Amino acid sequence: MMLAALVLLAVWLRRAVGAPADALRSASGRLAGGDLETPVTLSVDNELGAVASDLETMRRRLAGRMEALERLRHLSAQVVGATSLQRLTEVALALVPLLSRGRFLGLLALCWTERHQLDREQEALLGLAGNQIAGALEAALRLEEAERAAGEARAVFYAIADGVLLTDPFGRVTAMNRALEALTGWTETDARGRPYAEVLPIATDQVGGPADLVSRYGRRVPVAVSSAPIFDARGRVVGGVDVIRDVSREREIDEVKSALISTVSHELRTPLTLIHGFAELLVLRDMPVERQRSSAVEILDASRRLARLIDDLLSVSRMESGRLVLDPRPLDLASVVERILSPFRAMAAKHTLRTKLPGSLPVVWGDPDKVEQILTNLVGNAIKYSPGGGEVLVTVDQDGDTVQVSVRDQGIGMSPRDMGQLFEKFYRVDREEVRRTGGTGLGLYITKRLVEMHGGRLWAESWPGVGSVFRFTLPTTSDELAGSGR
Ligand code: ADP
Repeated sequence: MMLAALVLLAVWLRRAVGAPADALRSASGRLAGGDLETPVTLSVDNELGAVASDLETMRRRLAGRMEALERLRHLSAQVVGATSLQRLTEVALALVPLLSRGRFLGLLALCWTERHQLDREQEALLGLAGNQIAGALEAALRLEEAERAAGEARAVFYAIADGVLLTDPFGRVTAMNRALEALTGWTETDARGRPYAEVLPIATDQVGGPADLVSRYGRRVPVAVSSAPIFDARGRVVGGVDVIRDVSREREIDEVKSALISTVSHELRTPLTLIHGFAELLVLRDMPVERQRSSAVEILDASRRLARLIDDLLSVSRMESGRLVLDPRPLDLASVVERILSPFRAMAAKHTLRTKLPGSLPVVWGDPDKVEQILTNLVGNAIKYSPGGGEVLVTVDQDGDTVQVSVRDQGIGMSPRDMGQLFEKFYRVDREEVRRTGGTGLGLYITKRLVEMHGGRLWAESWPGVGSVFRFTLPTTSDELAGSGR
């Protein structure tokens, strides 16, 4: 009994599953082998039957696609191989011009492989289709053109050197370029959607005064801002554009110009008043010879001061226009030091001028006039800014393939804060002792530039109330000095 049941189950399983599975496997094998002709049929009412029906649907679709592809391949082969329209069309050809607003965009060609006569309705339909295709083609071309123009505008917007900000009609940021990101510290992603004034806060120190942009991190940058509304085709305001230019350089130039005017006019007026006053005394009054001599000395001093100011201004102007050139040659630095010190020694009453020079010094490579000018400026300052007198020591040392010169004084000195802008044009420390002595603030600027033109370096150390040391280096040369025993 049991055995009979098992046999029946095996027969049933063979019929319900085994045979349909075999049929399905052989159908999928045919499909995989490229046979799209033979239909997949399996009339069983279970899961395998459903799989077979899906396979059949897939076979029909694939067969349809393959047929379309085959037709296309055949046509392309004809087009590629055709040497004339005649061969391409075989029997019939219709050409429809594609015109959009009077502009010829191309031809639509229809080819038949058998004789074909178009009736009026078909002709009208073809004409209509031609118009539609031309319209769509025109729109596609215009879109392509608009996309190209938009791409160009985007590239210009992001690459432009000035900062540019776009806002919506409510003043919220919609875009900003790279230059503005660098200026404001905001990224375009962070700034988008924020109010204009938050991303671009402008501060002025006085009403109507120059404007500064305050960056995201509190840095102030002098800027010039120009703004304009953006209109759409119907004249409605759809946003705004702001162009922000960093004018730090222009502001600096303006400040230098006003410093130049005030310094030059002050420095010109003081000696001129002296010259005028003492000359008037000499002309109008009978004075003892002694008084006459001292007046003449005052006039001489004042005119020297004038000449120095003019020389300094000329040096700066030549340096900045690149017209100041060096005429370097092998130099005996020890004799240059002695030469420039001797007039100072003759004049200095309260100061002791001392030198510390090694027994043998290498020859330096420099322009004699300019090296004298460097030393004269530094020794002159050392005396000028030591009103109480003291020692001025000039030391020369060899340091590798350079020579280092230091000028040390025991004068008023400077604090580290005073020294921040020491080598800038027109800079003078804001102290009563400095104001009392005349000066333009050009000497150290010129000195530093001259040292650098020689390939050297100038720096300073200073202690308020104790004194200062200014040091500079000059390159040495292996050349022998012409006509010198050294
Ligand atoms: P000037 O002497 O005409 O003012 P400089 O450019 O030579 O111009 O010097 C700039 C400023 O540096 C001076 O005004 C002074 O405040 C400071 N300074 C220069 N040399 C010394 C020094 N040896 N000791 C103290 N302060 C100095």
